Amino acid sequence: MHFSHMILITLTFLLLPPSSSSSSSSSPETINNQPRCLNPFLQHKNDSLKDYILSLANHVDTANWIKNIRREIHEYPELAFEEIRTSSVIRRELDKMSIGYRWPVARTGVVAFVGSGLPPFVALRADMDALPIQELVEWEHKSKIDGKMHACGHDAHVAMLLGAAKILKQLETELQGTVILIFQPAEETGEGAKEMIKEGVVEKVEAIFGLHLVLSSDSGVVATREGEFLAGCGCFKAVIHGCMIPPQDPILAVSASILSLQHIVSRESDPLDTPVVSVAMVRGGSDDLNVIPDSVSIAGTYRAFSKKTFYALGERIQEVIKSQSLVYGCSSVVDLEGNEFPRVPPTVNDKRIYDHVIRVSNLIVGEGNVEIAPVFMGSEDFAFYMDMDGDDVKIPGCMAFLGMKNRSILHHQHSPHSPYYTVDEDVLPTGSALHAAFAYTYLLILTSHPSTDHYYIYIYMLTTYLPNTYLN
Ligand SMILES: [Zn+2]
Ligand SMILES: [Zn+2]
Repeated sequence: MHFSHMILITLTFLLLPPSSSSSSSSSPETINNQPRCLNPFLQHKNDSLKDYILSLANHVDTANWIKNIRREIHEYPELAFEEIRTSSVIRRELDKMSIGYRWPVARTGVVAFVGSGLPPFVALRADMDALPIQELVEWEHKSKIDGKMHACGHDAHVAMLLGAAKILKQLETELQGTVILIFQPAEETGEGAKEMIKEGVVEKVEAIFGLHLVLSSDSGVVATREGEFLAGCGCFKAVIHGCMIPPQDPILAVSASILSLQHIVSRESDPLDTPVVSVAMVRGGSDDLNVIPDSVSIAGTYRAFSKKTFYALGERIQEVIKSQSLVYGCSSVVDLEGNEFPRVPPTVNDKRIYDHVIRVSNLIVGEGNVEIAPVFMGSEDFAFYMDMDGDDVKIPGCMAFLGMKNRSILHHQHSPHSPYYTVDEDVLPTGSALHAAFAYTYLLILTSHPSTDHYYIYIYMLTTYLPNTYLN
């Protein structure tokens, strides 16, 4: 593909550093009489950046390396904040690539750096933890740890991010800033991202990107959504005490509370807002049927997509249980956010970062393989990076799904958190390429002239290579 001369000149101007771009005496090819490449990818003369990144990711050695890392981590799954062995695999591979990192961060996490070491900073995040599930898939790399399994693809997320590290390392001298690679512990318990944030991992970060493998889209398809995407998830636990004088019945108070909690969704909420409140546990009483218990416990979960609804829901649950307890002469203690039940806010994708993800994905996987995802009732602690409760952390970011529904093995594929869960490993290099391209290109946008029409950067950097006559 060839470029119009007018656009070429415009982009040349835009891609130069501000101090250089103001030099009217320099030709585009020279800055202060120093030769300068018009094309930062001069080394890859016959490739566009898109093709170059894809060729790096899909190289048979890289693809096998990514797959083998995933399999190694899969064999030794570790639960939240226990990811010692997993992080040692990550550090081993980073060492081999001469990529610097911080460890331990948030107890078992690893944070690596590729690029100039200077701002701007953008972050790519992978989660590392497994689930307390006994794997029932019989294959060569089955979990060797009884009762633990990577059943949510976090082993694959780590491998994809290491793949991105390898790609970015090969582009390091061309990175217009620094990419921070976050290998985060304890996503499944909703604690890891918060711990990473507390350790300052995303300070000064200007954008953050996350990928999660899903079965809801075909293999290699990117699916994401602007704004509210994944539900926030909170848990509540309440203990309702019957007063002794005169004796009151906490079972009645709990029964009324459960019924009233259902009315929050059915009668108080906007039906288009789709919140959910579920009571999942009731515990009280004994086999002594002539004894009214002193107390009864209930617990459950609530979910919503909008932050406003989500936080209001928690408050209302507390209010309903306390009020119904009082109606029946009982007292109650409601725990909305104890250590036992961390609250994960809704995942709300930033419009600007979402647009970037869509544009880059269109180029990396093709426009026919990019979908607008429906809202998804699951939750992700990636949400904390974009909006940490009670904190000033608000990094613009985007969580995207990478599909792995492979029609040729569909009958073998089971949903996340199933003991039969499997991963279509063929999509892993695509995940690495996406990560690398998201970060590389966003750094370029952050360092471009404020008046730049970013559309041309995407076109320029990802689909076009300059004919040799234009190369320095
Ligand atoms: Zn999960
Ligand atoms: Zn997950």
